[in-house]
Amino acid sequence: QDDRQTLLVTGGAGFIGANFILKARKARWAKIVNLDKLTYASNLQNLAILQDDPNYNFVQGDINNLELVCYLLEQYQPSAVINFAAESHVDRSIFSPQDFIQANVVGTFKLLEASKIYWQKLTATRQKQFRFLHVSTDEVYGSLNPQDPPFREDTPYAPNSPYAASKAGADHLVRAYYHTYNLPTLTTNCSNNYGPLQFPEKLIPLTIINALDGKHLPIYGDGQNIRDWLYVDDHCDALYLVLRKGAIGETYNIGGQNEQTNLTVVQKICEILDHLTPKLNFQHSSLITFVQDRPGHDKRYAINCDKIIQNLGWLPKENFDSGLVKTVQWYLNNPTWINSVRTGEYQNWIKQNYQNY
Ligand code: NAD
Repeated sequence: QDDRQTLLVTGGAGFIGANFILKARKARWAKIVNLDKLTYASNLQNLAILQDDPNYNFVQGDINNLELVCYLLEQYQPSAVINFAAESHVDRSIFSPQDFIQANVVGTFKLLEASKIYWQKLTATRQKQFRFLHVSTDEVYGSLNPQDPPFREDTPYAPNSPYAASKAGADHLVRAYYHTYNLPTLTTNCSNNYGPLQFPEKLIPLTIINALDGKHLPIYGDGQNIRDWLYVDDHCDALYLVLRKGAIGETYNIGGQNEQTNLTVVQKICEILDHLTPKLNFQHSSLITFVQDRPGHDKRYAINCDKIIQNLGWLPKENFDSGLVKTVQWYLNNPTWINSVRTGEYQNWIKQNYQNY
């Protein structure tokens, strides 16, 4: 617990960033400065509880804005930068890859450049303490066949979607800034996250919300694509651990050791909803609809996270079945949140509460 440190968090109004900030402030890990562009995927209401917290500051802005990032670093003197900011939805990357290159590749480059300028001016002691933690994905490793061993940190990169390629490009830049300029970087590659506050374009919240509305539950192809799932809170703990104890210049895989087919995930959600919202003669699974597969859809992701377990002592706490129940329950308990996200009402809320934006 150390409120004397400050972290510059980028993309903190998105799903994982918001969960991280809420946890960080609750546990008083550090003061937080949150720099977020407020794209469609963000939701500042997620952080409304922190509005009066003197150790939390929100700044609307783009990581591509070098001057702004340099100013914030000078102003707040953080001991670390944690980069969550990204365009994150694979389907959108297929339709508009340029946005992904700009946010994920060029944006990470600008953030690294600003961090390097800031870091080079620090005293030797503070240089040693500083970390640049880049939050990335297991999708950079490409796709596995059923019998292949899970991805390790030394698995060659083989991204297949523009999203994965843009994250891979960013990861390489982070690596280069360590090797070329000695910037103390850390990279984490995590599997699919689930939990509260996730924007309803992703599989789990989309399924829950459509099922509650009695709408079709779309599943790509035959539903046999496999993903590893991790509860978002466990990811946040892993990130904080890597930040404190990770070896500089290293990458750490993070995952739930929990491979599931997409069909199983959707079926499990349906069973939970059948149980929590019983309606006579209605099974939510009757809403499942198979739709045309996504182009270049990776077959299987699985992650070997022995390194973070053995070297840093991390273990996921949440088991998938209980985590999924918690998640469904959270969406059931928060109809106002769902409505505001769907109608874009939260954009008005931002205008009312943050008059400058
Ligand atoms: P998200 O889409 O929910 O949130 C991204 C946030 O970044 C949004 O608040 C958005 O406004 C902000 N943002 C986008 N472009 C920006 C820019 N140019 N400048 C400043 N802010 C910008 O994403 P998420 O699911 O919370 O993921 C966060 C990070 O974790 C991403 O880098 C993603 O690649 C990575 N990741 C996500 C998952 C997952 O399952 N969601 C898994 C592994 C890694």
